[in-house]
Amino acid sequence: MPELPEVETIRAQLAPRLEGRELVRVEILDPRLTRPYDLFEVTEELEGDRVTAVERRGKYLVVRLESGLVLLVHLRMTGSFGFGPASHERAVLELDDGTRLVYRDVRRFGTWLVLEGVELETYLAGKNGPEPLGARFTAEWLAGRLAVRTAALKAVLLDQRVVAGLGNIYADEALWRARLNPLRAAGSLEPGEVRRLHRAIRTALRAGIERQGSTLRDYAAPDGSAGSMQDEFGVYGRDGEPCPRCRATISKTRVGGRGTWFCPRCQPLL
Ligand SMILES: [Zn+2]
Repeated sequence: MPELPEVETIRAQLAPRLEGRELVRVEILDPRLTRPYDLFEVTEELEGDRVTAVERRGKYLVVRLESGLVLLVHLRMTGSFGFGPASHERAVLELDDGTRLVYRDVRRFGTWLVLEGVELETYLAGKNGPEPLGARFTAEWLAGRLAVRTAALKAVLLDQRVVAGLGNIYADEALWRARLNPLRAAGSLEPGEVRRLHRAIRTALRAGIERQGSTLRDYAAPDGSAGSMQDEFGVYGRDGEPCPRCRATISKTRVGGRGTWFCPRCQPLL
């Protein structure tokens, strides 16, 4: 599932191809994509409009249009964009320079929602906390969010209202970098541990962006290239292998139903 670094990689590739271009033809092939709104209604809203900016908020792609409308795309499990014909095509955007941008999605959980620009912040504010690489995401802010929660630390980190854009992969990587056990009660962290975690979240996400995300199964960037972050994971998906920091054997457990990898020596439960 694409997380912040993967969505940011997609955004960075789409922006120069889409910005300033008119959507001359919009074809939505799957009614599930725009539910509960009618796909023809959404098609009509988009067609003839011009893209002014492609932005990202958490795991959402935000396509701003000249009319003031915004197309909000969430890729969920397997949504992706590409510039060539593909299997599992769910929508096609034809641009005024002849570019054919294809949205494909095997599992069909992705969503396209058209909003008025003025509705966007309200809509996102209910779902997403501050951007973890932005100035509003401070260690103090994170400490306040964690202090009131008794659930397992990792489960709280996956709450998009706490860390927008963080998912299963980068949560495990951040906890490993911060040397914190994913099963610790979120509210039990000392101030120094929260500061370590805050720094580790940012470092893990920045590393992911620099390596164009991680490619496991389906994910590819719009130009078809794969990310390389998977080659540098500390723990994610590596149970039975040695911890790159201390050589102890990496363990796998489950937190909130999600596969969770950690080093029992670097990240003791205390
Ligand atoms: Zn270790």
